[in-house]
Amino acid sequence: MGIIHALDEHLANQIAAGEVVERPASVLKELIENAVDAGSTRIDVSAEEGGLNLLRVADDGSGIQPDDVLLAFQRHATSKISTGKDLFQISTLGFRGEALPSIAAVAKVKCVSATDDSGLGRLLEIEGGSLLANRETNAPKGTEMVVKDLFYNTPARLKYMKTIQTELGHLSDVVYRQALARPDIAFTFSHNGNMLLRTPGNGDLRQVVAAIYGTSSAKAMIEVKEENPDYSVRGLTALPVETRANRNAVTLLVNGRYVRSQAIVQPLMQAYHTLLPLHRYPLAVLDLRMHPTLVDVNVHPAKLEVRFSKENELRAFVENAVKQALGAEAYIPSGTSVR
Ligand code: ADP
Ligand code: MG
Repeated sequence: MGIIHALDEHLANQIAAGEVVERPASVLKELIENAVDAGSTRIDVSAEEGGLNLLRVADDGSGIQPDDVLLAFQRHATSKISTGKDLFQISTLGFRGEALPSIAAVAKVKCVSATDDSGLGRLLEIEGGSLLANRETNAPKGTEMVVKDLFYNTPARLKYMKTIQTELGHLSDVVYRQALARPDIAFTFSHNGNMLLRTPGNGDLRQVVAAIYGTSSAKAMIEVKEENPDYSVRGLTALPVETRANRNAVTLLVNGRYVRSQAIVQPLMQAYHTLLPLHRYPLAVLDLRMHPTLVDVNVHPAKLEVRFSKENELRAFVENAVKQALGAEAYIPSGTSVR
């Protein structure tokens, strides 16, 4: 008899969790992405103790059908792609069907979901991969996911968590980027009962920037808007008076997905030329759109890097777009704010 055997599902999920669920912020990212993919118009996020005690994401999106709720927690189960062809034209943030089973393997999860306004929906409870409850319940349309006691059954991972403040910093980062990516969605974010963010959800990016960075920062930003047959970019970038010491000041979105990319940050900074103080970054949000064949979005859930097939063209496009924006505002003496 051979010695090779297939791992049971729970063990496979625990191993996958090691990849997908690094810390509370990675859970939050997956939950918010699911809420966005569900077409939500509002997403309410709350956390306790840096997300280690509790993470809650409630949305008003499509909901999950009663018969699908259990399936959603199974490995490689997804509603977002079905054929190999779909892989080359992904329009959702998720598609791998790995997040929910991974999270449920290392935490205590409650999911309440309803697909209509009948007032009835489904409640599911899973602890460390074991099903505790799956029954009908009262629920508004949409989905509420509650993740408690993250890593309670993987003490080695828990030991590596940093302070509450550090984990909260990572959580905020996830919420802020998603809120900046989707000004059309109303986000709230609270931690230990304190409301930290509220965005209006009316599509106005400047108001989201104001909610996150403050009104005066938002006022010191100018509009970037440019397109050519390959690329389009929209967004806001700061007048040289409004800079930050940290690269995090720049939020880059490629086809709706938050990414990190020197291929975009460098031309953005070059556009400022000598206007930008040394080692300073402009506060900026750039939303770039391009045909999916022009970008290889790294599909690893935790990695944010992307590769562009015509990188030089893209660099030139970004630099020019930002230069145009700055040039249009050149008559404004530095130090004063616009609008
Ligand atoms: P993926 O997002 O890659 O499909 P997940 O494990 O994150 O995989 O979720 C599995 C499935 O559960 C999704 O494909 C979707 O059908 C459903 N789902 C998860 N969260 C939500 C939500 N907030 N609203 C509606 N459906 C959801
Ligand atoms: Mg997902």
